[in-house]
Amino acid sequence: MEGSHTSARTASGSSAVELESFPEDLSPDPMFRILFHICCAPCLSGTHDMLLERGIGVDGFYFNPNIQPYSEWQKRLDTIKEYVKEKPFFVYVDPTYEIGTWLRKAIREEDAGRNRCAVCIKQRLEKTAEFAKEKGYRAFSTTLLLSTYQPHLLIKDLGEEVAKDKGVEFFYEDFRVKWSKSLTLSRKMRLYRQQYCGCVLSEQDRYLK
Ligand code: SF4
Repeated sequence: MEGSHTSARTASGSSAVELESFPEDLSPDPMFRILFHICCAPCLSGTHDMLLERGIGVDGFYFNPNIQPYSEWQKRLDTIKEYVKEKPFFVYVDPTYEIGTWLRKAIREEDAGRNRCAVCIKQRLEKTAEFAKEKGYRAFSTTLLLSTYQPHLLIKDLGEEVAKDKGVEFFYEDFRVKWSKSLTLSRKMRLYRQQYCGCVLSEQDRYLK
């Protein structure tokens, strides 16, 4: 893939997933940075700027096995690569993508009357926290805290729970104050903006009236 390389780094846990990272001329900097889970480039645009303005460094982590179909997963990643060309910073990509496992889990949650989003968000935060811990980052956070469409308090609670569980700090900020700025920025940068959260169930919720 242009402007990127695969590395020998592996995600934590038993699944030895080979991670990609980009851009090639930058390196991760765990000592002084937060590992920032990225769901998509538009949400990144508002949050990244806000952290930079405060002198807080971030390395990115793209881990979103919930984004369906696969072409959409790829499109969101490609958009992050476009963003990084304009505003360089280091990003890891975990390629884990198990649509059958993911859908079975989400539907099991719904059938049991539970919220599928809680499982989906927790999975992404857990992986980010584990990887942050393994690499020595002082904290982890997520661009999910920007969207006014996301269950903000649930993300905050899950982040704090995961932090306690994994032994690494959760950096919380109500990034929603930058929601309109992210709209402006992503339009200005001509970033692709998706019309649904991620899974096919959310795509149905968005379009089936
Ligand atoms: S709607 Fe979004 S947060 Fe909820 S399960 Fe689907 S992808 Fe995950």
